[in-house]
Amino acid sequence: METDKPILLSGIKPTGAAHIGNYFGAIKQWKEFQTIGSHQCYFMIADYHALNFVQSAGDMRDLTHDLVLTYLAAGINPEKVVLFKQSDVPAHTELAWIFDTITTMPYLERAHAYKDAEAKGKEVSVGTFNYPMLMAADILLYNTAKVPVGHDQKQHIEYARDTAEKFNRIYGDTFTLPEEFIVPDVATVPGVDGRKMSKSYNNTIPLFSTRHEIEELVMSIVTDSSGDRPENVYAIHRLLKTERELDAVYDEHQGRYKALKEALVEDLDAFIKPMREKYHELASDPRTVADILEKGGQLARERANAKIEEVRRAVGVS
Ligand code: AMP
Repeated sequence: METDKPILLSGIKPTGAAHIGNYFGAIKQWKEFQTIGSHQCYFMIADYHALNFVQSAGDMRDLTHDLVLTYLAAGINPEKVVLFKQSDVPAHTELAWIFDTITTMPYLERAHAYKDAEAKGKEVSVGTFNYPMLMAADILLYNTAKVPVGHDQKQHIEYARDTAEKFNRIYGDTFTLPEEFIVPDVATVPGVDGRKMSKSYNNTIPLFSTRHEIEELVMSIVTDSSGDRPENVYAIHRLLKTERELDAVYDEHQGRYKALKEALVEDLDAFIKPMREKYHELASDPRTVADILEKGGQLARERANAKIEEVRRAVGVS
C-alpha cells in the first residue's frame, strides 16, 4: 500500500443501520477517491464517537460489525484503502486530551451539535461536548489533507483546522491543515419527513432495505400539495437520476404523486439491490471482518504512533 500520497480520511459512527444519506453524502465520494487513486484513503469506524449514543457492549459490537459489512457491500475495497476501527488506535484519545488542554470552553460552546442538544434541553455528556476535539484528533493524527463529508460536518472540519493552527502556534509546526470536500448537489439528503435524513430522526431509508421496506418508506414520504412536483420525492430521486431523465418522468406524471413515488421505488430498488445482495453474502463470513480490522488497525497504528510521538516530543512528555 502506497504511503507517499496525500492523505484522505473519513468515517461513520456505528450507531444504527447506514442510510442513503450516508451513502450519497459520504461513501459515494470515498469510492470515487478509491478509484482515482489520488490519495491514500483511511476510512474509519468511529466507535469512540458512537459511545456517546450506544451504551451496550453487545450493541456496540453488532453495530461495528454491521458497519464494516456496510463499507464492503457499498464498494470500499480494503486492499486499496486502510479500513480501521478508531478504538484500535489509542493515539486518537491521547491526542484529543492534548487538544482539550489548548481549547477553551466558550469555543466548544459554539459547536452546532452542542448548541442543538442544549436547545432541546438535553443533558449533554462531556463526551458530546468534547466531540470536536476527538474529531480533530482523528483527522490531524494522519496529516490528513482532505476530509470528504456531508454539509453537517463542515463546522467540525473548521474546528480541526483551528486546532491545528493553535497547536502549531504554541508548539511549532506539527500539523497539516485539512480541507473538507463537500459535493454541493448532495450536501444534505432529506429524510422521509423532509428534515435532514438522520438515524436520530428516525426518518431514514436504510442502505440495504428490502423492496417491501423501500415501498413502505417511499409511500410515507411527506409531500406538500402546493405544486406539481412533490419536492421531497424529487430530492431523493435526483440522487439516482439526472435532471433531464427526471423531467420526462415528472412531466408525464405531473401532479400524480402516487405514480411518482412508484417510479422512485423502482429506481431505489434497482440501486439498492446489488448492495443488498453483497451485504447478505458477506454477512455469512464473520472471519472476513475480523481480518480486515486487524490489518487496517495495524496500518493505522503505524502512522498514528509516529505522529503521536512527534506530538509528545513537541509538548515535552516524550
Ligand atoms: P454519521 O452517521 O453522523 O456518522 O455520518 C457519517 C457521514 O454521513 C458524514 O460524513 C455525514 O456528513 C454523512 N451524512 C449523514 N447524514 C447525511 C445526510 N442526510 N445527507 C448527507 N450526508 C449525510
